Formats: sequence, C-alpha cells, structure tokens
Amino acid sequence: MARLALLSTSNKSGLIDLARSLVEEFEFDIISSGGTATALKEAGIPVTKVAEYTGSPEILGGRVKTLHPRIHGGILARRDVPEDLADLTANQIRAIDLVVVNLYPFEETISKPGVTLADAIEQIDIGGPAMLRASAKNHAHLTVLCDPEQYNTYLKELRENGGEASLEFRQRCALETFKHTANYDRAIANYLSSSQSPEASSLPDQFNLSGKELQTLRYGENPHQAASWYQSGSTPTGWTTSTILQGKELSYNNLVDLEAARRLIVEFPDTPAAAILKHTNPCGTALGTTISEAYQKAFDTDSVSAFGGIVALNRPIDAATATALTQTFLECIVAPGCEPEAEQIIKKKAKVRVLILPDLTQGPPQTVKVIAGGLLVQDSDNIVEETSKWRVVTEKQPTAQELEELLFAWKVAKHVKSNAIVVTRDRTTIGVGAGQMNRVGSVKLALEQAGEKSKGAILASDGFFPFDDSVKTAAEAGIIAIVQPGGSMRDRDSIEAANQLGITMVFTDIRHFLH
Ligand code: 5GP
Repeated sequence: MARLALLSTSNKSGLIDLARSLVEEFEFDIISSGGTATALKEAGIPVTKVAEYTGSPEILGGRVKTLHPRIHGGILARRDVPEDLADLTANQIRAIDLVVVNLYPFEETISKPGVTLADAIEQIDIGGPAMLRASAKNHAHLTVLCDPEQYNTYLKELRENGGEASLEFRQRCALETFKHTANYDRAIANYLSSSQSPEASSLPDQFNLSGKELQTLRYGENPHQAASWYQSGSTPTGWTTSTILQGKELSYNNLVDLEAARRLIVEFPDTPAAAILKHTNPCGTALGTTISEAYQKAFDTDSVSAFGGIVALNRPIDAATATALTQTFLECIVAPGCEPEAEQIIKKKAKVRVLILPDLTQGPPQTVKVIAGGLLVQDSDNIVEETSKWRVVTEKQPTAQELEELLFAWKVAKHVKSNAIVVTRDRTTIGVGAGQMNRVGSVKLALEQAGEKSKGAILASDGFFPFDDSVKTAAEAGIIAIVQPGGSMRDRDSIEAANQLGITMVFTDIRHFLH
C-alpha cells in the first residue's frame, strides 16, 4: 500500500511543490485538514480530507480538526510492536509515515498593533503541536517537518536514500520540532504573562534564545572554550542585522569588543566620533569635525595599544578614513556605512573584518550575567547625561567649554571597566586608567599615560573618590577640572583639596560602574 502523509499547514508556501513530489515521485497518499486540502485540490493534487478519513467533521470553528485517534494512533504506533499494529488493524487506522505541520502564526498575530487577547488566544494552535510532538516522539518510525525550509532537504534525503528518510535525518527533524514547539509555547506564555501583569518580570524576551544558532564560533574567550552565537528574541536586531563587508571570520572576543565599542560610540550622535577598543576598554576615543579627523585623534592618543584594536565609527567610512585605517593592524571596524571608494581602499587589508551596522543605537534594553544557578538581569546603563543636573561643588566654576569637555570625559568613563579614570583634552582621551582595584591606582595610570599633556586637561571618574588622594594626585599633574559622582563619606576632604589646589569639581550624582 502507498505510504501516507498528513499535511496540515498554516503557512502554505512550498506546500504544493512538496505535495506534488510526494504523490508523483514517491507515491504517497495525502490526508489534510480543511484549508490545506482545499489548496491541494485547487492545484490538482489528490488529497483526502482528515474529516472524511476520520469520519468526524472539523468542529468548534476549527478548534478541533485533527484531534482524533485515527490520526494520533497512525502517528504514535510503534511499527515493531505487534500489539500496536493489532490496534491499528482493529480500528482501521493507517500508519502515517510523514507529518508536515506548521503552526498558527501566534507571534505574527501578537505583533500586530491593537491585537486583542481574544484574537491572540484564537491563534493558539492546539492540534498542530499535538501532531508535531507525537510525530517527534515517534521519530523512530516516521518523519516530521515543521518548517517549509525543510521541505527540499527532505525530498533530497528521499532521493538519496532510495525513497526513505534515514534515522539520523528523522532524529534531526524531531529535535527541530521540539525546539519549535517549545519556542511556540514560550511565546504564548510570555505574551500572557505580559498581558496579565506587565510588571511581573519573567525573563525578558531578548534572552529567550530563539534556538537559532547564528554561528558556531571557532572558540570562546580562549581556545579551549567552545562557543556559539545565538539570536536572542524572535526577530533579528542589533548585530544580527549587520552586513559583513570583508575579513576573517568573527570571533567571540571580536563580538564582545564590537558590542562594547558600539555602546561607547552611540554616546556621541551629534559629532563625528571614533573609538578604538582593546579588551572592551577604549584606548582612544575622540570627536572631530570629520570622521577621519576623529579617527586620527583617537589613534594618536595611544597608537601602541591601538595595534590589533577594534574601531567603531559613528559616520560612514570615507576614503580618507579608509586610508588611515589601513596604516595599522586592526581586528575589526564597525561603521554605519562605507563609501564605495573607501571599500576599495580597505580591501587591500583583506583580513580586517569590516561590519556595517546602519543603526548603531539598537542596543539591548537589559544585560545579563550568568552566576552559578542563576542569571542576573539588569537594565542597560543608558541614562541620558544632562549637565544641567550636575552640581558644581567647588569655588571655581567650570567654563562652558570645560563643561563640554567634562561631559565628553564622563561619557567615555562610563564605558571603561571600573575603577575607571579618563583624562581628556580637546575632546580626545589622552589617558585611560581601567580596571584597577583602587581608584588612585587608575588615576596614576591615566596621568602617567597623559604625561605632559595632562597640564590643563580634565579628568573623569566613574565612581566617587573615597579619599582626597586622587584629587591631590590629579592637581599635581596639572588637571584643571574633575567630574565624579560624589557620594563618599569623605566628599568634604576631596572638595577642600580641590578648593585649595584651585581645581574645578562637579558632581553628577550618578555612578557608572562597569564590570
Ligand atoms: P487548514 O488551513 O489546513 O485548515 O489548517 C491548518 C492549521 O491548523 C495548521 O496550522 C495546524 O497546525 C492547525 N491544526 C491542525 N489540526 C488542528 C486542531 O485539531 N486544532 C487546532 N486548533 N488547530 C489544528
């Protein structure tokens, strides 16, 4: 007897071609639910309606279409268990060899504006997941397909294996199916939890892995650590939407650095800005009148560290910038665009990874860290910095120009690992102290790097000064203004030291730890 395939699909793309091959090439009989059967009939493909096969009409407006022992018995029967086969015979059930189902478009429905709870609930598929799960469970004996993208692979498999799908293939399909139904149910649960109590925070949607592995990475932070890149959430956003113009394969560390660079560069939407990062810390950040000027300034501040760096630019790469970029060894470059001439220039450094991310601002609303037995989820640190809310705490007031410079330094400090100290002048970092265990240590590092240039420069600190030693060290090196959160028990000491040494100091009342 011919083999039996059950087709029940919401998304009818690829359906007709698949059904035609099943019937004409592999001699399947087809049974289908109402809408699918109509589509097949219209295409001239022989099909029996599930309702005719089971003798039970579709009822409740389609809520019950395929939920019937003749369907589920045909799917779940173990072909090597005599009792199962006897049950099939006694109940006039045909074993089903292929199940093709794709589900009601729940996520598409809830993403439409103005969708009601009733609309959403009606789009919860019941019979579809039941068939998918039953078929996946019994994959030892049949094949299940849940996505039109699998149709051609399945036909190829039949063609290459004398008309049969191998066990390995069926196992793969079963796994895909369980991932698919799990994602489907999670989307429903997320929707219901947000519609019932918007405050109740189940894991934010962006951390629900869609199950879609975008890339197996060569390794993680170190060669002995396996790593993968997954899409979070159901629709591609952020880096998933970037275009890779050229270069070697992206690594785990590249992606981590690129994201740190992206977060920093979006602080400066109004001016051409460039940042060069190493191990997620900026070794150079600068603003310029053109993007090439910004890059050159950022590079010149610490050309030693820039070697092998990750560059983020907030304007499209032009020819002048491209030429400058090719003068040194860089790991990655990201920009919102690249002019054709610039593309030709960078091509000469074929290994450099160049990514185009048209919307650099699209960042995650929350960030996550994994600890033993749990996940720590927090809002991203994307507070809007407003100098109007800052407090000048010293006798000396900052000039408008100094205030601008302090804001620049403060924004950079926010993206340096704590304890972070950033020394700048002319909207360019000239010294960065990152990741030290005591704040004055970071101050010393930043000032040492700035050297003579620190005379007349300004300094930003991501956290408060616990003692007045940082202020004194800064003043000694020639720093004229400081921005810091304030909030230490010994703020008074720091303010007094600043007054005595003739330094301007402002408090932001906001802290920017970054770990
Ligand atoms: P059709 O367009 O063929 O009428 O319906 C196909 C859709 O119905 C598929 O998305 C399939 O998952 C879904 N479906 C199949 N059987 C049932 C059932 O018994 N109940 C519900 N609610 N949906 C079903």
